[in-house]
Amino acid sequence: VKWVYTFGDGRAEGSSDMPELLGGKGANLAEMANLGLPVPPGFTITTEVCAFFYENEKRFPPQLADAVESALAHIGDLTGKSFGDGQKPLLVSVRSGGRASMPGMMDTVLNLGLNDVTVEALARSSGDERFAYDSYRRFIQMYSNVVLGVGHHEFEDELEFYKESKGVSFDTELDAADWRKLIASFKEKIVEAVGAPFPQDPHEQLWGAIGAVFGSWENPRAITYRRIHNIPSNWGTAVNVQAMVFGNMGPTSATGVAFTRNPSTGEKALYGEFLANAQGEDVVAGIRTPQAISEAARLAAGSDKPSLETAMPEAFAEFVRITELLERHYRDMQDLEFTIEDGKLWMLQTRSGKRTSPAALRIAVEMTQEGLIDKEEAVSRIDPASLDQLLHPAINPSAERIVIATGLPASPGAATGEIVFTAEAAEQLKAIGRKTILVRIETSPDDIHGMHAAEGILTTRGGMTSHAAVVARGMGKPCVSGAASIRVDYAQGMLTAGGAVFHKGDVLTIDGGAGQVIKGAIKMSRPELSGEFGALMKWADDIRRMEVRANAETPQDARVALKFGAEGIGLCRTEHMFFDPDRLNAVREMILADNKAGRRAALAKLLPMQRGDFVELFGIMAGLPVTIRLLDPPLHEFLPQTPDEIAEVAKALGLPIAKITRRLDELKEINPMLGFRGSRLAIAFPEIAEMQARAIFEAAIEVKQRTGALVHPEIMAPLIIAKAEFDAVKARVDATAAIVFAESGVSIPYTVGAMIETPRASLRAGEIAATAEFFSFGTNDLTQTCMALSRDDAGAFLGLYVGAGLLAGDPFITIDADGVGELVAIGAERSRAARADIKLGICGEHGGDPASIAFCESLGLDYVSCSPFRVPIARLAAAQATL
Ligand code: PEP
Ligand code: MG
Repeated sequence: VKWVYTFGDGRAEGSSDMPELLGGKGANLAEMANLGLPVPPGFTITTEVCAFFYENEKRFPPQLADAVESALAHIGDLTGKSFGDGQKPLLVSVRSGGRASMPGMMDTVLNLGLNDVTVEALARSSGDERFAYDSYRRFIQMYSNVVLGVGHHEFEDELEFYKESKGVSFDTELDAADWRKLIASFKEKIVEAVGAPFPQDPHEQLWGAIGAVFGSWENPRAITYRRIHNIPSNWGTAVNVQAMVFGNMGPTSATGVAFTRNPSTGEKALYGEFLANAQGEDVVAGIRTPQAISEAARLAAGSDKPSLETAMPEAFAEFVRITELLERHYRDMQDLEFTIEDGKLWMLQTRSGKRTSPAALRIAVEMTQEGLIDKEEAVSRIDPASLDQLLHPAINPSAERIVIATGLPASPGAATGEIVFTAEAAEQLKAIGRKTILVRIETSPDDIHGMHAAEGILTTRGGMTSHAAVVARGMGKPCVSGAASIRVDYAQGMLTAGGAVFHKGDVLTIDGGAGQVIKGAIKMSRPELSGEFGALMKWADDIRRMEVRANAETPQDARVALKFGAEGIGLCRTEHMFFDPDRLNAVREMILADNKAGRRAALAKLLPMQRGDFVELFGIMAGLPVTIRLLDPPLHEFLPQTPDEIAEVAKALGLPIAKITRRLDELKEINPMLGFRGSRLAIAFPEIAEMQARAIFEAAIEVKQRTGALVHPEIMAPLIIAKAEFDAVKARVDATAAIVFAESGVSIPYTVGAMIETPRASLRAGEIAATAEFFSFGTNDLTQTCMALSRDDAGAFLGLYVGAGLLAGDPFITIDADGVGELVAIGAERSRAARADIKLGICGEHGGDPASIAFCESLGLDYVSCSPFRVPIARLAAAQATL
């Protein structure tokens, strides 16, 4: 086994293809050496040694010692120095470097190899005694801290005390003699703390440092970081040992960090900072204010400290050349570390730089335009979920947040407003120009107008597909749902969160992307939908196979959907039209009617309204497909609930209160989600389905005649469980079509399909497809029915399941591919066997979730449909799914 890989002098044993073995830093150091760039020579001890170390009671493989010795000799050959030499001592840095970057989580030791003898040699060779002793004391501090476990403060206290007694306030005011004295007292401290003197033997120092760096893989900081970022603990770290170069060797030396493009905006301009006469940790520590690298950046920042460009023009020119070369080589924005030692530039690190979402977008698009990457690569580099950040106002990243509670990130974006507890209050305040956050235990269809009026919605109960979450996403409004630690007291008009009390009118901010509830107002920024966004979306459209449609029913939703690039409507939930306050009473009249004739009379009032809705919708969609679902929810949802509401409705409809309460009793169900809903309504009250079908066909004819747009309605029956059931609903639709076409003398093409939302429908998909012309998988209900998980109540325990690893994630967010997904696969396969060209789509919330979209692509579905604001995410995710 090869445990050690060397690099330096234009050659390396490793390369950037070996991050698993060499860690990211080691692999890129090797790559830079191979590219002939100035990299201080060194070697990488592999991650396999780390694995061995932990599998063998923190011992090293027996052959490692020899390998390290010859690698040290290699550095010695290239630098003309050797370890412990009294004239030309080799000094090295020892750094960790895992496969994934874990910034600041693990240990580093610099200036290793210094001791009482070599420090003199360093003083002579640098001609700077102060520098040599300052380096030595830094090494003693770092080493003692990292390897010997002596607290950092021990030394800092000593240093502060010394400066005080000398009457100075800056380290720079100390000279070589001062450092010598301090080193002597540091050494005493060490003996006191560990019972042994500071090691003078460089080999002992080196092995101590290597062991400490491997050991730091398991420090609590690193473990926590890995848990948060999902980095497997068995990856291990590599250790990089490298000849020291000094950025603190006087005014012609410097150290710095840079990005090849601006990581926050993506602008193509070298972006970075340096400190003259400093060592790496000084930049990070933030003691001195760093200087700009380029003159342009200095001017932009209005700084009067010289840029690297003017301070060290030659090193700057060389650095620019290298940054350009590295960016071209890696075809990505690079994050670099460098040191200039006495005018000579050395590269210490390069890696792909982290960036904000807007920067990621701009960089991907501009690199494609520059010919650095192709469109596929650009499309694959953007995280679809990050588009949310581009589409919704977001909290200014530098703003301070006082988080009072957390819930589910139900609908992204941030919103600030006064607390209101009723939809009415939200509406009233909106009318006078005030902004509100609607706080409810949970929302119901009665709250729609308030949700519409509020800036954001906060609920204390309910999951990612609860009413609040679905509706908020549909509206593109921020929503935090299921913030269970908040107690809402409607009667008192107040809420409590973590001991604090907030009243109606107090200001809250919610961050629907993070699921946070934040005290007070907070600074927001609304990102621009720039030209780059359009460019990337176009490339995604060229690449993807699946169609992307939107779930929309109102004209406004339809327009938003079109603006975001929807290619049709995949789900028009007609009950949302019924909930419209203007027509709710007509709907109630229909439900409260004693007989068919009464129902028909009420439906006759609804018909022109529904027709009007569809005329508008078809007009907006201008010939694009529109899938309309027949009425789905249980009827009791349309009736008033509280005594006050009942009294009001009784008055409005001129009915006795008792009649309404009796009907409510009749409609009451123990388990409404498995009750009188879905196509069961069309079976029991076929006249409702007939009215809806008539409205659809008459509207299509009207639009066709008026605008010439060929409307192709796709009518679907919800919650189907059997072929005979579907056929009965379809027969009503077909019969209505025949009548309407005969009446008008115009016919239009239409299809009738089934929503697959029950396991039985998936299993019997073959026979249902004999008459159904398309299927739309309603994966919200299918998840609910497959897993026996209530979509409205599961929030109470899902977190527990996911936290304990019993479920991979919330199945209402990302489709449970193994279970629910298998039902979709079975449905797709069996329906295609019966009808080869059957159109298959998905319209549950999963239609806007990238992982679920990838799953749909793997089944070859024809389209996904999601809320309008998620259409761009779906377009991008659908493209990525094909790559
Ligand atoms: C579904 O169940 O997935 C669906 C789209 O219908 P709804 O959410 O309206 O029940
Ligand atoms: Mg459903």
